[in-house]
Amino acid sequence: MKKVLGLIVLGVLLIASLHVTRHFLQQKKEAETFNRYVDEFNACSEARHWKCAETHLDFLLKELPNDTNLQMHYAGILFEQGRYEECISYIESRTFRSADFEFLVEKSKLLIRERDELGIKDFGHFRLELDGYADPIEVQEALSVLEIAYDSLSNLFQFYPENTILVVMYQSKDFQGVGDHPDWVGAVYDGKLRFPANLMQYRELYRPILFHELTHAFVHQMTRAKVPLWLNEGIAQVIDGSRNGRPQPSGPVPSLEDLTESFTKHSDRATVERLYWYSQKMVETLLSDAGDDRFVKLRNVFVDLQKSSVDEALMRHFCKKQGDLLYNFVERK
Ligand SMILES: [Zn+2]
Repeated sequence: MKKVLGLIVLGVLLIASLHVTRHFLQQKKEAETFNRYVDEFNACSEARHWKCAETHLDFLLKELPNDTNLQMHYAGILFEQGRYEECISYIESRTFRSADFEFLVEKSKLLIRERDELGIKDFGHFRLELDGYADPIEVQEALSVLEIAYDSLSNLFQFYPENTILVVMYQSKDFQGVGDHPDWVGAVYDGKLRFPANLMQYRELYRPILFHELTHAFVHQMTRAKVPLWLNEGIAQVIDGSRNGRPQPSGPVPSLEDLTESFTKHSDRATVERLYWYSQKMVETLLSDAGDDRFVKLRNVFVDLQKSSVDEALMRHFCKKQGDLLYNFVERK
């Protein structure tokens, strides 16, 4: 389930308007450098890599300190990073007002209130948004599990995300907490790690689910490139370990194309199950015999995807191509 929040829309609006600034500046001598920063800023914002966006925006604001459009972006980026107090005081120190500003101030105040009401002092590497009431003990438990997962993943990949990870615990009556992976669509990582608050009532489920979704968050922070689904879902399953040892599903071996595109476009459960199973096997095959630093190598693959094709990146670090990872299964058929 994906919930589109108002802010994502706001983000798009802001990004669209920044292109106007770029055009306007083409008169200037330093336009080239400036435009390069605008492009980088847009790319980072689109990927929701807020630290990177902020760095580039800092530069742009030094060039054009009075540009109200840039100032609006700046407030938005403070907000997106959960720096609500900073966001409010930044807006209050501006000489102009806008509807976007009003929205950010109101929403910041609400989130500060929500956070204070929880009475939790330390949010570690995370930032929390609640959508309705959540039990403070369950929130604390979720944060503890996430913090443990964060440490494990940082160690494994030797990677320390520069962005705070936003967690949204939302209210849902639909989530029953039964079944296995494809039913996890109640939990999702879409730039924010979202899960239903009542997940925390299912002890046997929430640990693998939070490890799984946090793996997606790490992968997202490692690269701005589009990651093939088999690789993203495969590594998340290897980490969460909840589906280990399942027998090979019946039915045809999926094509590489099916394994690359979104799995959720398939409505029948058997097909989706099969795609998840083969994804995990492909990543297990990739990591097998790849040495103690195999997860670091995998991190390097994610980083390289920004400049290289999937096969190029895999060859560089694992001496294997995507087709090689499926070959064993095709042979046996
Ligand atoms: Zn997943």
